[in-house]
Amino acid sequence: MFCQQCEQTAKGIACTTMGVCGKTEEVADLQDLLIHAVQGLCLYSDAARQKGITDSTTSLFICEAIFSTLTNVNFDPDRFINMINKAVELREALKAKSGANFTVPAAVFTPAADLAGLIEQGKAVSLNTSENEDIKSLKHTTLFGLKGVAAYADHARILGQEDDSVYAYIDKAMTTILRDDVEVPALVALALECGAANLKAMELLDAGNTGRFGHPVPTEVPLGAKKGKAILVSGHDLLDLELILQQSEGKGINVYTHGEMLPCHGYPDLKKYGHFYGHYGTAWQNQKKEFAEFPGAVIMTTNCIQDPKAYMDSIFTSGLVGWPGVAHLGDKDFTPAIDKALAMPGFAEDTDKGSVMVGFARNAVLGVAGKVIEAVKNKDIRHFFLVGGCDGAKPGRNYYTELVEKIPADCMVLTLACGKFRFFDKKLGDIGGIPRLLDIGQCNDAYSAIQIAVALAGAFECEVNELPLSMILSWYEQKAVAILLTLLHLGIKDIRLGPSLPAFITPNVLNVLVENFNLMPITTPDEDLKAILG
Ligand code: SF4
Repeated sequence: MFCQQCEQTAKGIACTTMGVCGKTEEVADLQDLLIHAVQGLCLYSDAARQKGITDSTTSLFICEAIFSTLTNVNFDPDRFINMINKAVELREALKAKSGANFTVPAAVFTPAADLAGLIEQGKAVSLNTSENEDIKSLKHTTLFGLKGVAAYADHARILGQEDDSVYAYIDKAMTTILRDDVEVPALVALALECGAANLKAMELLDAGNTGRFGHPVPTEVPLGAKKGKAILVSGHDLLDLELILQQSEGKGINVYTHGEMLPCHGYPDLKKYGHFYGHYGTAWQNQKKEFAEFPGAVIMTTNCIQDPKAYMDSIFTSGLVGWPGVAHLGDKDFTPAIDKALAMPGFAEDTDKGSVMVGFARNAVLGVAGKVIEAVKNKDIRHFFLVGGCDGAKPGRNYYTELVEKIPADCMVLTLACGKFRFFDKKLGDIGGIPRLLDIGQCNDAYSAIQIAVALAGAFECEVNELPLSMILSWYEQKAVAILLTLLHLGIKDIRLGPSLPAFITPNVLNVLVENFNLMPITTPDEDLKAILG
């Protein structure tokens, strides 16, 4: 196996025997084979589109298949085998419709009949190719960014939001990175175009979430527990949460969020449920301890699942998530999880662990834009820091806690995604009644952050890069790659990235990013604050 798609990759280079995430060599090979099979399918999907033929079943499958290979989504070999076979079935059906005839290996590949044969085929299409390192780096950047795009496009589609331009980009990019005649400039452009496709996918998801559940409003969320039976919902899927709330209503169960589900408390059509109580635990990498201690059922709706050996009988998966031996609720009937929660002890007593505020997405923040602009003009607000992105287990992430603690009291901190768990419960006070720490939402709410920045730039009649705004981001998995590409596509400069730079970025590719965007690694909180604030 050769996998270097996430930040915790072994030795900062690549996982080659077993994933640090728990991915086996077998699953890694099957994932590589699935990507290969989907590239063959994309060739025909792209050819069909050129003839005006679009096929939503195929586009949906392509997103699901690519999303399944994102870090910490699916560890179940059987599910990958099914998807590999389905990719070839769909490819053959489209071949007939498109009238095209491709002869490259991905387009004529036939899956082996057994697991051993499939694994051998997977090894033969490993991502560790012998290409020029910079070409490989740019192809991997696009492929990993595509995994993020596919994730957001899939979430948006679940909520009824689709746009063929996103699917068209995925087809084009998956087939372009198959070719060996594409040079560095074209691959740089393809990677930046991935950022554009991701912006569209996040916009669709924003429309899906706010259209279905309303615009988030500032909401206080308890971090303790309420005596009684309990269900914990983790992942990123708001629709799954709504179904769980509906199906568990009136059963004497309190529903808690975990990890990236925290911002769900701010959505009017989710917070209306009386048994939607509070937030339990912190970021994804602490789940082994936190889930093991949770006295109820746990439902994992999307990434980021970790080895659940210690609580196999109380955890359930939904959607594209999978772990061998864990009960999968593929039909959105959450009865088994509800029954499990009723059979488990639940919390023995009420506990108070304080609370946090959520719900400061674009609508809420822009609702007080006049006050914010006034505060900047009066010099009550000196600077905005966007400190967001993924959390992770590797050392070095205390940087983000220390940074937020050291940001001066006349500066605002905007945050999003699970990186916030490094400081989300800090009491930073307010500036003229505006809380200094504003939680914009999940990682996909980077869309909301972009809208806030664009609106502020409009109000100050300047470019986003001229705002008193610094972006200090943390990355872990491939949705963060897609978001970074979106920011670069928008021409955002001076982004600081940590805790380490991606292993798949070569020095030459990094140079391109530095020269064009002044992308830089984080240093120390003191040095970075000095450089930003002077
Ligand atoms: S997803 Fe990350 S931890 Fe898992 S195998 Fe790949 S690089 Fe390693």
